[in-house]
Amino acid sequence: MSPSADCLFCKIVEGEVPADVVAQDEHAVAFRDISPQAPTHVLVIPRVHQPDVGSLAEAEPEAAVGLLRLARRVADEAGGSYRLVFNTGADAHQTVFHCHGHVLAGRSLGWPPG
Ligand code: IMP
Repeated sequence: MSPSADCLFCKIVEGEVPADVVAQDEHAVAFRDISPQAPTHVLVIPRVHQPDVGSLAEAEPEAAVGLLRLARRVADEAGGSYRLVFNTGADAHQTVFHCHGHVLAGRSLGWPPG
């Protein structure tokens, strides 16, 4: 899907909104969350606009796999255990409707999540 004019994360992909980018490739961009919930809290997003991870997997499977590869790279650089979270839908606390995975690492992570 082409960039959505009113999408914050499309603007980050396009470089129109600044972000602390830690890694990127042809499929995905990884940048630090503005409100970190763990010592490592990085968002990994596809370059293409899709509202959530399921839509991305259906429409752009190569981009979905690329996103997962980049998330793993970010997590490997953090070291140790990590959690990869895709909040999907408003009741699951999705607030930005451009697919993004949260890479959380650097502390012990509780279960179940709230
Ligand atoms: P969600 O709640 O799963 O949709 O996650 C959205 C995330 O985007 C939240 O953790 C926010 O802190 C983060 N966020 C919102 N705006 C920005 C930004 O401009 N830069 C980096 N992270 C952001």
